[in-house]
Amino acid sequence: MSGAALRRQAELLDAVLAEAEAAPGAMVIFDLDDTLFSTARRHLRILREFADLVESGDPDAAALLRAIDHESLRYAVTDTAKDAGLRDALVKDLRDFWFARFFKNRYLLEDDVVPGAPAYCEEAVARGAAVVYMTGRDEGMREGTESALERHGFPRPGAARARLILKPRFDTPDMAFKAEVLARLKEEGAVAASFENEPAHVNLFRETFPAARHFLLETKHSGRPVSLHPDALRIRDFRR
Ligand SMILES: [Mg+2]
Repeated sequence: MSGAALRRQAELLDAVLAEAEAAPGAMVIFDLDDTLFSTARRHLRILREFADLVESGDPDAAALLRAIDHESLRYAVTDTAKDAGLRDALVKDLRDFWFARFFKNRYLLEDDVVPGAPAYCEEAVARGAAVVYMTGRDEGMREGTESALERHGFPRPGAARARLILKPRFDTPDMAFKAEVLARLKEEGAVAASFENEPAHVNLFRETFPAARHFLLETKHSGRPVSLHPDALRIRDFRR
């Protein structure tokens, strides 16, 4: 990231903090996966475990899987595996293997943070914001999510000025869930800003709270063809 880009990012992030200070109690909403947390290490761990599983029957496939690194991860694990040259039958098995693990509490602890995220959330709270973690993770993932937040030094949900909103049901589509929660938050009070990695969700935030600042994290997203609202602000991470 160039010095100029970093300065621009710092200005955008600082403006939210200044506004939090000017309007205490205003909400700042953060998505979790690929917004505050990078899911890369969780993906890589599952790929390594799958490599261990197929090693004895298919050492070549195991080698292909082990060669996958951070840079070659795609949003969908099946695309990552196809790019790596894994044959179709194994891609399907991998998909099931991945699905049985990716949403489990003990795997959530594998995630690293997006650079600067914990300090930024801490400062938002210190400057008067009400931090809302709103995620497509479901209630079954609460334990691992709370542990991961605590381990990395994010403001603890449940304490004053931070809360965690998870999906009551795993199978509710994220978009429908977020639309419903936003409608509720709108009744509660002012929103200063939101942070998301899915362009479609950023647009939903923008539609619900047109006066707030809405950020797209340029980490990775599901690739659905959506044009981002022109008012949305783009950042790479939370470094300032
Ligand atoms: Mg996300």
